[in-house]
Amino acid sequence: MAAEPDLNPQLARSRFCPACGAEAQVDHPRSLSCEACGFIAYSNPKPVACVIPLEQDGSVWLLRRGFDPGAGLWTFPGGFVDLGESAEQAARREVMEELEVEVELGPLHGVYSRPDDRILLVVYTGRLLGEPSLTDEAVEVQAFAPAEIPWDEMAFWSTEVALRDLGVERG
Ligand SMILES: [Zn+2]
Repeated sequence: MAAEPDLNPQLARSRFCPACGAEAQVDHPRSLSCEACGFIAYSNPKPVACVIPLEQDGSVWLLRRGFDPGAGLWTFPGGFVDLGESAEQAARREVMEELEVEVELGPLHGVYSRPDDRILLVVYTGRLLGEPSLTDEAVEVQAFAPAEIPWDEMAFWSTEVALRDLGVERG
């Protein structure tokens, strides 16, 4: 995981106030402030909305990622929440983009973050309303029975923790 100096590379390169151009005070990794004009910009973790699609029998739809980070490894669909949409809208949009299928969102499953990560994951469970398709982002798609989840090929730390929180034991 990223060490603190790499947590906010954009801020690490910043020296001047974007509003007035004066030299700014940088409090890495959290903020940039300007005594000359009072401008302050705070840096926050970026929210990512995800869905763990479940089948009636408890199996879990996972996709093998086509792109880095985590290319070739398994996770559930999700992506960054854009300004102008809710986390729920982002979750549904990402399922459509990655698997080309509608999803019915279930309850919030959990929120995952840690100090050395730039993102904050909002994870719902859900139910796919059709058959998922392969896309550039999802080069393999499979419903895994709980005992068959590929624990040694998880794309992210949060993938494993969120799946474990389903009550699925690591085999
Ligand atoms: Zn300024």
